[in-house]
Amino acid sequence: MSGHGGGWQEVGERVFRFRYRSMDLNVGAVLGDGEVLVVDTRSWAAEAEELLADLRALTGLPHRQVVNTHAHFDHCFGNATLRPAAVWGHRRCIENLRTRGEEQRHATMRGMPDVAGALAAVRIDPPDRAVDDGGATLDVGGRRVELRFCGRGHTDNDLVVLVPDVGVVFAGDLVEEGAPPSYEDAFPLEWPATVDRLLDLAPGIVVPGHGDVVGPDFVRRQRQELAAMADLCGRVVTGELPAAEALRRAPFPEDHARGALERARVTRTLSARAAWRAGAAAPGRARPG
Ligand SMILES: [Zn+2]
Repeated sequence: MSGHGGGWQEVGERVFRFRYRSMDLNVGAVLGDGEVLVVDTRSWAAEAEELLADLRALTGLPHRQVVNTHAHFDHCFGNATLRPAAVWGHRRCIENLRTRGEEQRHATMRGMPDVAGALAAVRIDPPDRAVDDGGATLDVGGRRVELRFCGRGHTDNDLVVLVPDVGVVFAGDLVEEGAPPSYEDAFPLEWPATVDRLLDLAPGIVVPGHGDVVGPDFVRRQRQELAAMADLCGRVVTGELPAAEALRRAPFPEDHARGALERARVTRTLSARAAWRAGAAAPGRARPG
């Protein structure tokens, strides 16, 4: 055991995760012939430097490629330290960091004043390799690694990293161990189906964004909780169920359930606007204004 985390754990042949004490975050390392792929980069420069030192203790291989599972700071604000590696991320992860990265930085600084200085010094460095909803296949020193978009869930830009030859999936925060799922940027009504598509990848081992390594049975149980929460959200949004009753029946603690209800309301409005925009942009239809 090292002081700052649990050390590298091999979760499949030449596939490792490091569980950091800070944020209880998991970082992944996938070794190929001649290079290592890194999954997520931690929260600020000193944390990313520590990650690089840990990586050097694991392997002498260079990290030429990095993946960000999504645009939350604890998974990608360390990017600049891992350059000049190519950084892969969903197209909307890139867009989010470009347009709302500063907003996220300041919100996080307010929430974590003891590390505000470190966050203030971060150079937000969005991925430079964009992945569309159709996903991407990486060649990591002759080893195939798949980046899959399973749908909207924890955010609108969650990428899942599949190492097919060992059946390991890095799930990002689509799966959460040790704490309830986090809804602050989530799509509560779509999340269960997204986890279904993750399970369709038939992983033997799932490394969540935070907490302990789990198996598919854990993910199926969490999917049932997400589905129960989605059902309650849907009934509150349509006015069928009072919010207080939904909070009482929710499978998650009240603050998480409250976040889910709020996001269900917001994302329903976003979807309606997107549909309107698609209609307004259709040929032959005049755009207002
Ligand atoms: Zn997250």
